[in-house]
Amino acid sequence: MLKGVRVPERFALNGINGGAAVFKHMMIPERLGTSAMTIGAVRPALEIATRYSSKRKAFGQPIMNFQAVGFNVADSVMLLDNARSLVYSTCLAIDSGNATPGRIRRMISQSKKYVSEAAWDVANKCMQVVGGIGYTNVYPLERILRDIRLSMIWVGTNEIMQLIIQMEWYKEFFKTVKGDVRDVELDSPNADQTDEKVYE
Ligand SMILES: Cc1cc2nc3c(=O)[nH]c(=O)nc-3n(C[C@H](O)[C@H](O)[C@H](O)COP(=O)(O)OP(=O)(O)OC[C@H]3O[C@@H](n4cnc5c(N)ncnc54)[C@H](O)[C@@H]3O)c2cc1C
Repeated sequence: MLKGVRVPERFALNGINGGAAVFKHMMIPERLGTSAMTIGAVRPALEIATRYSSKRKAFGQPIMNFQAVGFNVADSVMLLDNARSLVYSTCLAIDSGNATPGRIRRMISQSKKYVSEAAWDVANKCMQVVGGIGYTNVYPLERILRDIRLSMIWVGTNEIMQLIIQMEWYKEFFKTVKGDVRDVELDSPNADQTDEKVYE
């Protein structure tokens, strides 16, 4: 903690009282970095669970043959692939140069929230596959679980990600969906019963 430090005005980042804007701006790429980092951090858990379940035997056969085990591995593979897809599509949107700052903010917030929660799920499933020994420090699963828990908290908690996603979505929706778009509400057979559509 620094107190009473005198800093010449010319060294003030983004001018006097301008630091918060820089901070807010820099947090956005940090969130995408956290998403990519979290995928890399949890991937070894899946590798450990896959190898372990193919070697560990119960009732005379490798436990990967039991669906309850194999399904945890299947879901983990799917969650990690989903997470990668979301991060890649976010990066592609940014690199395209066509995405608005609001769209980029939304996609990055979605990546950060989705990836961190998927990773938590994957780490838990993989620990479950490895059983009791997976909880000990004989395998690094317990460390992976602890490490990736941070991703739901830092660079803005996932609740803050939800706030950003909802805020950007409403802005984007009402800006892009205008009168010239087909009104899907009219697809319903009773769409003309407007007295049933009560908003207040
Ligand atoms: C290991 C570690 C390293 C870190 N490194 C850095 C760093 O290098 N630089 C840096 O600047 N910061 C760093 N941080 C801080 C981190 O970014 C913050 O902890 C994080 O943004 C959450 O803020 P907070 O801890 O003040 O939680 P709070 O803001 O006090 O939140 C507490 C709870 O309230 C909820 N909450 C708060 N406001 C709302 C709201 N409006 N709506 C709904 N829910 C809400 C949160 O989601 C959370 O569940 C680090 C934190 C950790 C744990």
